Amino acid sequence: MNIQRNVNFDVIKKNKMFIYNLGSGGTRYHVATQRLKTAGFIIKMNSFNMYVDPGTSALLTSLHRNVPLKDINSLFISHAHVDHYDDAEALIESIYLHSYKKNKPLLITNETVMGKIKGWERKISSYHEKLCSDIVTAKPGDKILLNDIKLEITRTIHHEPYNVGFVLRTGGVRIGYASDTVFYDDFEAYFKKVDVLILHPVVINKTHGNEFRHASYDDIIEMIISSQPKQVILRHIGYEILQYGIDKFKEEIHRETGVKVEYLLDGDCLVIG
Ligand SMILES: [Zn+2]
Ligand SMILES: [Zn+2]
Repeated sequence: MNIQRNVNFDVIKKNKMFIYNLGSGGTRYHVATQRLKTAGFIIKMNSFNMYVDPGTSALLTSLHRNVPLKDINSLFISHAHVDHYDDAEALIESIYLHSYKKNKPLLITNETVMGKIKGWERKISSYHEKLCSDIVTAKPGDKILLNDIKLEITRTIHHEPYNVGFVLRTGGVRIGYASDTVFYDDFEAYFKKVDVLILHPVVINKTHGNEFRHASYDDIIEMIISSQPKQVILRHIGYEILQYGIDKFKEEIHRETGVKVEYLLDGDCLVIG
């Protein structure tokens, strides 16, 4: 595994497996300022291209970074917060148009995004639903098979109560995406010894994150120690972490856990194979 910094999609497209981070920002601060883009990321595994959490600026960033939208075959939207779903409709439409109306992506999302939870409005219109090949409304514990890719849906504890993450498994590689969450007791039941664990550090101290239930320094440490991944990737970085210094934050987490830790900023790519 190696990281390529601030590259356009053209530069890394020859690789078979990678995580391409279009945007590394999270929370309202980064939605409003775009200091770090809230554009989500793409997981490529051979011919499987999944766009994860296309928040505000996802479409424009994809176009600037030369992402071949026609080749995106699935979209994963973890929850109904604007930094995760905002550009989903524009992206669905663009995938359809860029593929000359041949490609309709599969949408995997949670119940809130599809308006099935009282008090939360639907985020994907019925028009855009028709531009998807299918919509899978996922719950923790669900297993979704997409050819040779297996997605196991994981739980979270977050302000959006139905938020979900996943463990993607293919060809002996396991990638865990915890999404926005604080640490929870059975975290390791989902993410034990994954090859790559993607985490979202937002606040330094636990008490600051109570309302939104975003991961603090201590949450990140507990997640890593309990699950013992081979490689941790930090993204969806909150303002407090930037103020603290992301290099310092990363090094302290590595020192305390003994696990390899890296962060991905806008346009950074983790090449897996
Ligand atoms: Zn978020
Ligand atoms: Zn959220």
